[in-house]
Amino acid sequence: MFFPKSYSAILQRMNQADPLAYGRTRNYLNGHITRLSPYISRGVISVKQVLESVLVKGYRLEEIEPFVKELAWREYFQRTWQHLEDGIFEDIRIRRTNTSRKNVPVALLNATTGIEAVDTGIRELVNTGYMHNHMRMYTASIACNIGQTHWPEPARWMYYHLLDGDLASNTCSWQWVSGQFSNKQYYCNQENINKYTGSKQRNSFLDKPYADLPGMEIPASLQEGKIPEWHTPLPETTLAPLDPSLPLLLYNSYNLDPEWRKNMKANRVLLLEPSHFRQFPVSSRVIQFITALGQNIPGLQVFCGELASIPGLHQFPAVYSKEHPAFRHYPGIKDERDWIFPATGRFYDSFFQFWKQQEKFLQANRQPVRQTA
Ligand SMILES: Cc1cc2nc3c(=O)[nH]c(=O)nc-3n(C[C@H](O)[C@H](O)[C@H](O)COP(=O)(O)OP(=O)(O)OC[C@H]3O[C@@H](n4cnc5c(N)ncnc54)[C@H](O)[C@@H]3O)c2cc1C
Repeated sequence: MFFPKSYSAILQRMNQADPLAYGRTRNYLNGHITRLSPYISRGVISVKQVLESVLVKGYRLEEIEPFVKELAWREYFQRTWQHLEDGIFEDIRIRRTNTSRKNVPVALLNATTGIEAVDTGIRELVNTGYMHNHMRMYTASIACNIGQTHWPEPARWMYYHLLDGDLASNTCSWQWVSGQFSNKQYYCNQENINKYTGSKQRNSFLDKPYADLPGMEIPASLQEGKIPEWHTPLPETTLAPLDPSLPLLLYNSYNLDPEWRKNMKANRVLLLEPSHFRQFPVSSRVIQFITALGQNIPGLQVFCGELASIPGLHQFPAVYSKEHPAFRHYPGIKDERDWIFPATGRFYDSFFQFWKQQEKFLQANRQPVRQTA
């Protein structure tokens, strides 16, 4: 699985999105998904840009609704993070009793759940940094609902490996699957996995009717658990002298937008704070991906250190960053991120409610724009 890093290749991938085929096939492992999430999560492109790039081809909103809805899920989770702040790292709506285990099933760490398609998916995640959405749901369901494990440690495991690791999408999705941020827990059986992944496995612990899955005994392969020590290997960096007469633009692992204030004469620093990565560790593959994406921004210096150790931080005429819940501690001016939908003003405890509201906005404000020759 290849994830290009150059901005032109990323835009090309965005322009190749096929929203109609997406709607028909997105649940299949080999379906027409976009593989844009690593770039959206890292703030290289926004969901708004993705939507615009599709509308400009003349699609009508009604015919591409499944695609638009998925983009809306990301905004829903980001807005949820803005509203609940660190509350997203707790059980959001419902505390369930069948999640007494507080570790990671060793079967996830070793790709030995016994469900062949899922084990292949886990190996791919570790080797490439990507996993298909359906596979993420299967994995989370096996860990939490069959393995009776509370979501935070397994979610941390997945986040560590994902190139598109996004604390809101990851945390909220794990809670959605495990039933803390939805009305019910999500279950998948072997038949469903075979259908969407093309596997042909039979007689696994999931080869049962749906009614038999809740409350089943924890399979032997999921019994053992542990709490791994995650470590983020940040590179050694030294910051070349910054110009105190120019503003400072702070980039981070969630803002690598080459278009952001691109004509401004400024110091540009990609700040990778050890304290952030101690709290939310990621793999070396993820760090390499982030720093490689940074190369699309002319003059950007990578600095692995704390904000306060940027020399002369309070002496720049201005400090700019993009608003983000993970980086509230930045000083200075916080530019708004690009959104499809306006701020909600309140927390919606279900995507359905959020979508009902935002769909009206979309219909009222977005006319399809036909591409001119
Ligand atoms: C347990 C679990 C953990 C997840 N962790 C993350 C994560 O850390 N980072 C992350 O970006 N996504 C996460 N997702 C959501 C989703 O799996 C990925 O966004 C999607 O698989 C990315 O692949 P794609 O770009 O090909 O998506 P596509 O299917 O092509 O979708 C296009 C875009 O829509 C958005 N999108 C699609 N599905 C979802 C979804 N279910 N929730 C939110 N946004 C969505 C993404 O921005 C995606 O890039 C998680 C889902 C689950 C079930």
